[in-house]
Amino acid sequence: MRLIILEGPISRAAIAKRIGLSIPSVMTITENLIGRGLVQTVGKGKSSGGKPPELLSVVPDSEYYMGVDIGRSAIRLVILNLAQKVIFGTRIETGAVQPEEAFVNRLCTLIQSSLAEAELDVSRLAGVGVAMPGLIEGETGHVLFSPDFGWSDIPLQNWLQRKLPYPVVVENANRALALAEGKWKGAGACLGDGTGSGSRTVLCVNMGHGIGAALLQDDLLYLGSSGTSGEIGHITVCKDGPLCACGNSGCLEAVASGEAIALQGRDAVASGLPTLMSELCGGAREKIDAKLVFDAAKQGDLAALSIVDRATDYIGIALAMAINILDPDSIVLCGGLTKNGPIFFDKVCESTKKRRMRQAGRHVDICLGKLGDYGTAVGAAHVISYNGWRIPKLEHYY
Ligand SMILES: [Zn+2]
Repeated sequence: MRLIILEGPISRAAIAKRIGLSIPSVMTITENLIGRGLVQTVGKGKSSGGKPPELLSVVPDSEYYMGVDIGRSAIRLVILNLAQKVIFGTRIETGAVQPEEAFVNRLCTLIQSSLAEAELDVSRLAGVGVAMPGLIEGETGHVLFSPDFGWSDIPLQNWLQRKLPYPVVVENANRALALAEGKWKGAGACLGDGTGSGSRTVLCVNMGHGIGAALLQDDLLYLGSSGTSGEIGHITVCKDGPLCACGNSGCLEAVASGEAIALQGRDAVASGLPTLMSELCGGAREKIDAKLVFDAAKQGDLAALSIVDRATDYIGIALAMAINILDPDSIVLCGGLTKNGPIFFDKVCESTKKRRMRQAGRHVDICLGKLGDYGTAVGAAHVISYNGWRIPKLEHYY
């Protein structure tokens, strides 16, 4: 399915060659998909001597997936069709997240009104994927702990499932983003060359208000023994550093996240240091955010540059640790901080190179995510097909 979605129109012989199955096996599978109305024939390809081969592509509107990204400041919602094209998108302010049940009711209203507005055949909706920051228990979609939301022990998936007549799967936001950027149409996505030449590891790091990551190994999310892998933001990088929202101190997130950079900018202004940041915020310190600090640094402001240098160095330390341990094929950098252009990306790459062990990870490709602000919402929609094994009408993914 994924090959037809991403590379169609494609012939049965080409599918067989790419994924190493026999042509009769591919014929059996594709006939099943055609019979179910998910795949169609769309003309003939070039002949290599014999009869020109029939080309296959998906039927775009035969199936839909909804993805909802619940961030602390905004909720983004998208609907994808089977061709993985975004056919509907919307964004609202998150607002109050407590009491939790009232927030969930508001979320259900948004989901239902978006479906009505998109005017699609809801019987074709395969499910609703919901992504949020925090520790989320796999399969049950139970929110164990979300510092950003102040939630502990909330059965989010269960509550949503009771109110909505479609399959609902709740997943950690960084994992949803990794599916979009690392498996589907994002910066780290790669279908392989069909030779089975080995495994592929993609680390997706999301750096915005907080910092988190997720790891894909051969297109599968690596969860870990307790299901809590990927917490790169809570690696201690500065032994006596500031207190972190997680309760520890000196975490990467506490010294290098968007929030941490903003706080350091406000402190610099409060301390009376001569800095362009005072002018850029017009005297209102609370207006200083990470973007303003980067803007001042780009203009050569020394106080801002020192904050940016320190934050990017810490990020490089954490990425170098990841490289030394994992030696992944690629590291995809995403999130608000990456919007600050070369000053951010180049400094992070420089620090990573300096901090990793010499010769270690020399083939690691560090790149920027491709999907922008809606990447996590798109990934939340992919969470549905990823969990197709437990959604009866999605058995064609497995
Ligand atoms: Zn922490």
